[in-house]
Amino acid sequence: MSTVSFADLNLAPEILKALTESGYITPTPVQAQAIPIVLEGRDLMAGAQTGTGKTAAFALPILQKLLPFASTSASPARHPVRALVLVPTRELAIQVEENVKAYAKYSRLRSLVVFGGVDIKTQAPQLRAGVEILVATPGRLLDHVEQKSVLLNQVQMLVLDEADRMLDMGFMPDLKRILALLPKQRQSLMFSATFSNEIKKLSADFLIDPKLIEVARSNATAENVTQKVYLVGQADKHAVLAQLLRGSDATQVLVFTKTKITASRLARQLQRDGFAADAIHGDKSQLERIQALDAFKQGRVTVLIGTDVAARGLDIDQLPMVINYEIPSAPEDYVHRIGRTGRAGASGAAISLVSPEEEKHLKEIEKLIKHEIQKENAAVPHQAARSPRAPRGEHHERSHAPRPAAPKKPSHDQWFDKPYEPSVSAIPNNSQPERLADKPKKEIAALLVRRAS
Ligand code: AMP
Repeated sequence: MSTVSFADLNLAPEILKALTESGYITPTPVQAQAIPIVLEGRDLMAGAQTGTGKTAAFALPILQKLLPFASTSASPARHPVRALVLVPTRELAIQVEENVKAYAKYSRLRSLVVFGGVDIKTQAPQLRAGVEILVATPGRLLDHVEQKSVLLNQVQMLVLDEADRMLDMGFMPDLKRILALLPKQRQSLMFSATFSNEIKKLSADFLIDPKLIEVARSNATAENVTQKVYLVGQADKHAVLAQLLRGSDATQVLVFTKTKITASRLARQLQRDGFAADAIHGDKSQLERIQALDAFKQGRVTVLIGTDVAARGLDIDQLPMVINYEIPSAPEDYVHRIGRTGRAGASGAAISLVSPEEEKHLKEIEKLIKHEIQKENAAVPHQAARSPRAPRGEHHERSHAPRPAAPKKPSHDQWFDKPYEPSVSAIPNNSQPERLADKPKKEIAALLVRRAS
């Protein structure tokens, strides 16, 4: 945290009041650096990932600069889109706009979020009524442009948020089409977790003489996150995870898997174990993803299981624990995953369940973060290890300890052919899902055996 205060940054009283209400006391480093540059009118290229406070770093100076345009008039003509924030995912769009709304609470400026996967007809009337700050995913914005529900000819500030992600997801053609619709005379800001060659090229195309800031290298892990590795065979991971969850005080745990299929399967297994678990990934409908995320934020779902793509950009205040059910093969993804916890100064725990097959990836991660993570062998809970609930489809994978031969299982799990049933609706309304914290607590330490070597 920096020593400057928000008041030092020349923000108007109505913005400062909203910040105080949001519980912000001092600007984060990216805010302290970016806000003066944006207020000065310069283009900006910022290397900052989610969790650094980057949303407020662009949203606050945008609000400050747009305050003179705030209007009480009901006429849509008095509320043209003046700031456009483009983001790669719907989840991030929702989160960014929620923040903008909170910061703009005491101003007359209007904001709106539009993203695909939901009925465009419900968004069009709100857009036509006029908004100063529009947060959008590129594809859906272009749909609105085609339907003439929005004009972009008065945009004076543009933000490309998570620009590296936008390139990864193939949004370049959409971005080019959108940029062609904007006035040439404008201020542009770009935020990216990485400074790849593609990002440098994008910034050369879209920014004019930008100021460059970088707050944390993309391979830096949060200092206030406690990291730990439990060594466990793939086939025993479910039992160990369930044990860890039972022993945890955390009321919200985000669990990462490598594939969508594992995420769905694990959610079902944990639901059967009595946890309020749900999965979030790209195969879910937009509505299901939003419902799962909302349920998680509100505490109705306590264990959310996701893949890297779905969980990127997820912003949940004070998320206490992240568990890697499988560690990612790309070491940078590990940094992104554990960045979901320990945000803005809060402390967090990041636990990884690592099978012998994954140890090579673990070495790469440790090389990237320049730090050896504490490791312990996990003792597999006896009952669960032999229970018929042992993870399906994982019986072929090696475990640390010799295990009795598993009974022959059908080669194909028919569940995967069925349409997804949202777990939240599966929980009867009158029965409260079990919260992690309500579970009988067992010492996690009891489950662990120090690594012999
Ligand atoms: P972001 O990187 O924009 O996704 O922000 C990460 C989290 O930090 C969000 O939950 C913000 O609400 C929170 N946050 C941002 N700026 C501050 C601040 N100056 N003080 C405390 N929390 C903040």
